[in-house]
Amino acid sequence: MFTDTHCHLTDDYCSGDELNNVLSRAAAAGVRRIICATAEPHDILPAIKIAETHDNVFVTTGIHPEYAGTDATTFLTPDVLSHPRVVGIGEIGLDYHGGDDDRDAQIKLFTAQLEIARRTGLPVAIHTRDAERDTAEILQDVRGVMHCFTSSYELARVMLDRGFYFSASGILTFKNAADVRETFEKIPIDRIVIETDSPYCAPVPYRGKTCEPFMVTKTAAVLAEIKHLQLDELESILEQNTLNLYPKIKQ
Ligand SMILES: [Zn+2]
Repeated sequence: MFTDTHCHLTDDYCSGDELNNVLSRAAAAGVRRIICATAEPHDILPAIKIAETHDNVFVTTGIHPEYAGTDATTFLTPDVLSHPRVVGIGEIGLDYHGGDDDRDAQIKLFTAQLEIARRTGLPVAIHTRDAERDTAEILQDVRGVMHCFTSSYELARVMLDRGFYFSASGILTFKNAADVRETFEKIPIDRIVIETDSPYCAPVPYRGKTCEPFMVTKTAAVLAEIKHLQLDELESILEQNTLNLYPKIKQ
């Protein structure tokens, strides 16, 4: 059994009846557990609703840096954070890709959510893009995962020392992503999980299509190759890593 540890089931591609189709295609491919992350604050309650009606769906609730300026406590309420299906806080982080005009607001939102993570003991799922230095500086005294990790091995080293996990997405399968494969070659296998980040970043051979959780098996296959493991060996290692990263799944 594989877990897609990060995808967005509140996105349009899952609207209406399509959600059940997406989940059935995932189950048929052996992807039997799905962790739905939120980015937009108003997706938090709909994501929880999906988890409440589907036994194999869990949620990480967080506000993406794109929504800098939002007051995190308005959305990450005690009810949300203590919900049995909410296993982590994410995706949260910093993104200076489109410029850093709102840098202070991003840092404020990120810091506020890290504070909530420390208080609740929930692990964090981190988004970082073109913001390695600030991310490393701010991301202290919490545990969690660097989601869709494509940053440098230098940042990986820092976060490995802090006990973090690293999530490989479909990007691992891209022809032009040799550097990402090299980084994952060096990251110890007991610190790796996999994800689709769907609807984004569909792996080879689905590039250009809407990404869905079932496709995470393609990332698993490439990871198995990189780590010189049989797919079923990798499967049980990833399962253990996922449960170690998100212990609330077992409760
Ligand atoms: Zn995401």
